[in-house]
Amino acid sequence: MSNEIPKIHHINLERLQAGIHSFWLKIVDGPTSTPLCIPTIIAKGSFQGKTMGITAAVHGNELNGIPVIQRLFKEIDFSQLHGAIIGVPVVNIPAFHRKKRRFIDNVDLNHIFPGVENGNVSESYVFQFFNKVIKDVDYLIDLHTASTGRINSYYIRADLSDSITKNLALLQNGQIVVHKTASDGTLRGAANEKNIPAITLEVGNPHTFQKGMIRSGLTGLYNALVYLKMITGEIDQPETPAVVCKKSYWIYTNTGGLLSVFPSITQCVKKGDLIAEQRDLFGTLVQKYFAPEDGIVIGKSVNPVNQTGGRIIHLGIIGSI
Ligand SMILES: [Zn+2]
Repeated sequence: MSNEIPKIHHINLERLQAGIHSFWLKIVDGPTSTPLCIPTIIAKGSFQGKTMGITAAVHGNELNGIPVIQRLFKEIDFSQLHGAIIGVPVVNIPAFHRKKRRFIDNVDLNHIFPGVENGNVSESYVFQFFNKVIKDVDYLIDLHTASTGRINSYYIRADLSDSITKNLALLQNGQIVVHKTASDGTLRGAANEKNIPAITLEVGNPHTFQKGMIRSGLTGLYNALVYLKMITGEIDQPETPAVVCKKSYWIYTNTGGLLSVFPSITQCVKKGDLIAEQRDLFGTLVQKYFAPEDGIVIGKSVNPVNQTGGRIIHLGIIGSI
């Protein structure tokens, strides 16, 4: 029962006994003058070792990561664990309450990391979260999903120029791994700047639980823990290796209308392939879209209603860096 979960102001790993511990961790004060807390689960191993951070729902409507984290802590044997795992199933609690992606001031938290100490509501929330949870971890895996109106493959974004980060990404058994340096205010980027190897997992679609995606996410976390020697075991190799992309970008509509996108997720397209059509409200074709180069479909729009600048597909360009 939630009311039995202790509230804490800081994580003190040194003082924790070996075991699985659940807390409400205070981040800031809410408008009722009571603490705004986030759920925090810690597996403290019986042996010394590194600390892994695993976070989900930095966007409040991205839910698949929540059961991934819950199941990991249900199954993990702390008596065999070296080091500690800190899991936060919902980082953005105020947005989660509202079933929204963005924070209460309509800011996307994943654009403003590592936050500002005495900043505005979103900046100070991010600052406290980053300093209380992320600053002292050795590795970070941040779980996301697609945004509303779009669907994603199970893919990983990571800076593949760092060998540990690259291995963590490839071990997630994703369908696609995309190289992306992160210097854009993301949680992953802020962690990288503290020399914390960090990867972002895009685990399917928003507002839902997808069993297959949740299972794949969990396998990836175990693989990472085995690779980092935090647990013993065997790495579960994927049946099909991930397609590695050296870069990726979105293709946008250049006019308005109802959009039909043709390729499926993870489908490879060739330069010049018809990828989408747009029709006006009378059913007349107003625009056709073609693949600008060879690539693989990482994500796509599933909402037909688009004005100029609507997203069509997220195209990955296959190749190693
Ligand atoms: Zn997200």
